[in-house]
Amino acid sequence: MLTDTHCHLYLEQFAGDIDDVIQRAIDAGIEKMLVPGMDLETSYEAVRLAETYPNIFAAVGYHPTDMQKFNTKSFDEICRLAEHPKVIAIGEIGLDYYWVKETEKRMEQRQNLLPHLELSNKVNKTILLHLREENDAETGNATTDLFDILEPWHEKLTALKSRPGVFHSFNGNLESAKRAMGMNFFIGIAGPVTYRKNETQRELVRQLPLDRILIETDSPFQTPVPHRGKHNEPANVGLIADKIAEVHRTSREAVASITTANANRLFRWEAHP
Ligand SMILES: [Zn+2]
Repeated sequence: MLTDTHCHLYLEQFAGDIDDVIQRAIDAGIEKMLVPGMDLETSYEAVRLAETYPNIFAAVGYHPTDMQKFNTKSFDEICRLAEHPKVIAIGEIGLDYYWVKETEKRMEQRQNLLPHLELSNKVNKTILLHLREENDAETGNATTDLFDILEPWHEKLTALKSRPGVFHSFNGNLESAKRAMGMNFFIGIAGPVTYRKNETQRELVRQLPLDRILIETDSPFQTPVPHRGKHNEPANVGLIADKIAEVHRTSREAVASITTANANRLFRWEAHP
């Protein structure tokens, strides 16, 4: 059994055949999928999918590149959605200095991250973090700024302290991974681990303990080898599991069972029918 802990199934790439996409995922052994919102509208859509399909769960929040739509009223609505029983996380949230270059807008990302962190604590639901550096560097100002915000937040956590969240599609270095794992965060691994030229990511994955890894597709983006060029879907999560298994010299079954147990530990979604 596998899980896909990050897939944007409400996007237009899935508009025509969402039932088929979900059936192919189930046929591929995927027992649970987590659909994160990126703003209010897509958070509604994530919740709608979770209400429709038993094996889909939702997260709600504002993606750092969508802050132009963030305001008090829309965030109140995010807070209301966060209480929904099939909303199991707050996200995706974080910092993106790749697409956003202006100092003021980066400041706005940091400011608007804070109420999301408070919300996570209030509803006792873990966070899905997006972190992307300028020029896709392994580390830099976004990483520094994010840890500066997360560490004091984590310090004060109680119930969530042992399971604060996941760094989704992690692209940082080992030092940042260790700092994240030091706060009990999980590390999300996606399609790039399969890319032929991405020995750096495989070297990182080799250093990560399997009990801190989550597998995600980030569908419809980051399609793994050999399907690059087509849009991604949850059924491809097994290709990422295979690559992690190869790197860790173990079997797909071992990777599947450990990462599924990790997802259960983080999201506690087994309790939800
Ligand atoms: Zn995403």
